Amino acid sequence: MKRRDFLRQSSLFGGIAITAPSIISETIAKGKKPKSVIVIGAGFSGLAAAYALKKQGIRVTVLEARNRIGGRVFSFKPKTTLDNVIELGAEWVGQSHERVIALCKEFGLELFNNQFETHLTFQGEYQKANTWNTSPEFDAFWKQKEQLWKTYSHEFKKKLDKQDWWRFLSNKGFSDRDLLLRELMDSTDFGESIRHVSAFAAFAEYAESSEKNEMDLKIKNGNGMLAEKLADAIGREFILTNHSVLQIDQDMKNGVTVHCADGTKFNAEKLVCTVPTYSLQKIKWTPHLPGIQIDALNSLQYARIGKFPMVFIERFWKEENFDMITDTPAHYFYHGTKDQPGKPGVLISYAIGEKADVLASVTQEQREEIILNALKPAFGDVRKYLNESLMYYWGIDAFSKGAYAFYGKGQWFGTMPVLKQHHMHTYFAGEHLADWQGFMEGAINSGEEAVKQMLG
Ligand SMILES: Cc1cc2nc3c(=O)[nH]c(=O)nc-3n(C[C@H](O)[C@H](O)[C@H](O)COP(=O)(O)OP(=O)(O)OC[C@H]3O[C@@H](n4cnc5c(N)ncnc54)[C@H](O)[C@@H]3O)c2cc1C
Repeated sequence: MKRRDFLRQSSLFGGIAITAPSIISETIAKGKKPKSVIVIGAGFSGLAAAYALKKQGIRVTVLEARNRIGGRVFSFKPKTTLDNVIELGAEWVGQSHERVIALCKEFGLELFNNQFETHLTFQGEYQKANTWNTSPEFDAFWKQKEQLWKTYSHEFKKKLDKQDWWRFLSNKGFSDRDLLLRELMDSTDFGESIRHVSAFAAFAEYAESSEKNEMDLKIKNGNGMLAEKLADAIGREFILTNHSVLQIDQDMKNGVTVHCADGTKFNAEKLVCTVPTYSLQKIKWTPHLPGIQIDALNSLQYARIGKFPMVFIERFWKEENFDMITDTPAHYFYHGTKDQPGKPGVLISYAIGEKADVLASVTQEQREEIILNALKPAFGDVRKYLNESLMYYWGIDAFSKGAYAFYGKGQWFGTMPVLKQHHMHTYFAGEHLADWQGFMEGAINSGEEAVKQMLG
């Protein structure tokens, strides 16, 4: 999703003037190197920002509301298979994700292949990988998408942002079956129906990503290992978990005062705020955030993604690189313990939108029934193998209320630039503000970019 090249080239972000009157001028916020900076959030964005500041010799304090670091990167060991690590949040590192790969190298973390061969259960029928496909017309279009993308002008790309991905494909005359299959496949990338996703965001993602759409690699022992290494490099004593920020006061002379829920207060010259928009709106800002930013915050939605890991006593699916798209509420399955040792294994049901809402709302017994039923066309009744079933539903996560932002029609060029504007001493970061939006890479890029912007 190399949308960054396009954004850099397009001055004024599609013609939208982003100099809101209440946004304090550059001269106040920039200037000499600050001595102290507070970073809010110890996700990848906040940790990357803190690491960049530390390397500049700047005193940094990271305030994190949760009792752990990593944020939406959440590596987890199920009780019944403690030798294995699964990901309840971010799963794949893409081959194009240069900063994640570089940081893994810097910290000696191993990345291993996490690519899959996709099977299909559709309208009650199970088809093995490479025996099913979309129509020849669609395949021909898909094959030449990179070339096609290169021929599109900036103006046309901006036009694409005004329609949704489903409409774009439908206007091309593809069959209902093609559209249904694309809905099932592509909605897992955006976390909501493709009827809501900007056609620009979707086409850019598919035209400019690696062959497997950045579903390439994973960090050995869990993606959370990168958070741990970053924290070691920053210095654990500078990262305070269980510190939920309630209020931020800024004044031109004295910098920033941050108030936490436990009554503690922190002062610094500058601030990097990396929290998702839901949390950002909960913070009391003095002075207020500019109205234009509040409107932008109110307009951005986050994807409802639920992960429902099923721990089985054996890997009855046999192939380590097994994944499967289904048209059931369990939606998409993938092998969460691929190439990890041991007999037990975890299949993760990954559901989006209302499917995730439903799976998260029913009882555990009903959920297991729905998920096991979805596996029946492929494997028959596999209940006898089930050892433990888990769930993490990001739609109700206390701090993000969603897995990651999704940019709807007209938002890529309209909303993001407004949210990126600094507010006095505060610089904003987080995956929702990155060209690699929705990825760990984007979170890291945005944290590093916020520091760059701050230091002028
Ligand atoms: C289900 C799911 C699947 C995903 N799949 C992939 C994938 O395969 N590949 C990929 O690259 N990415 C994936 N992602 C996206 C990736 O996880 C995110 O892009 C990235 O982790 C976001 O990092 P961040 O630092 O921007 O935000 P966060 O990780 O959310 O960090 C922000 C931090 O701020 C803290 N916070 C919030 N409010 C406050 C407050 N008031 N005071 C103090 N702290 C606060 C939060 O607790 C959080 O720790 C996935 C995400 C999810 C949820």
